[in-house]
Amino acid sequence: MRRRNHETAFRPLGEQSFPSLERYQHVRFLRVICPYAQQVQSVLSDEHTQLLLAIPKKIGLLDFLIQHPYTALRFENRVLYLGNDVSGIYDFQKKEVDIGIRRHPSEYSQTYSKQKFWNISALANTLPQVTEPTFVHELGHHLHGTLRELDLPLFRSTMLTPKSDALSQYGLANSFEYFAECFAANVFQRVELMLDDQFGCAMIERVLDRLELEIKELP
Ligand SMILES: [Zn+2]
Repeated sequence: MRRRNHETAFRPLGEQSFPSLERYQHVRFLRVICPYAQQVQSVLSDEHTQLLLAIPKKIGLLDFLIQHPYTALRFENRVLYLGNDVSGIYDFQKKEVDIGIRRHPSEYSQTYSKQKFWNISALANTLPQVTEPTFVHELGHHLHGTLRELDLPLFRSTMLTPKSDALSQYGLANSFEYFAECFAANVFQRVELMLDDQFGCAMIERVLDRLELEIKELP
């Protein structure tokens, strides 16, 4: 059983490879009250943090998260996995998520073309915007992990869903990433999900029906 899921896979980058982050120079750890996480920490401004924390409500996931909360939710400058910078890590057992707010310029502003872009986050146009789809992708992992507790047969069926039509390259990585990418696509690239990945679209619909969730799109 996988204990951790990680976003990989750009080779380690030197400090100098990152764009200037003046806007984040005030790096301080805030503690924010959040109804769906026992603990929230963020290096972002209050305003930006609140904007991100509002996403579950905007997409219709707030009540579900209140019932099935995170233990910890952290927006950080860097998230490292095995020495590599990654965009996020979700711990299925601890129900903790770490989200990195930094990206190399090559990791965003990509254009949609089936399996020719890295992940749904990479379609974001600007650096601050990248964190939104990354958070939604991580919400997908959390939803998937919660489904395992609520309906094991349905969870298993998601693990058997063919991922050959995954929209993003990262969606091909494994069934966990495929699910999270499909969930993010359902929020940010719904038309493409419906047209280009019928297995993934049907999988997400089945799961959302089972959990009585109606997820809304974000622009
Ligand atoms: Zn992931």
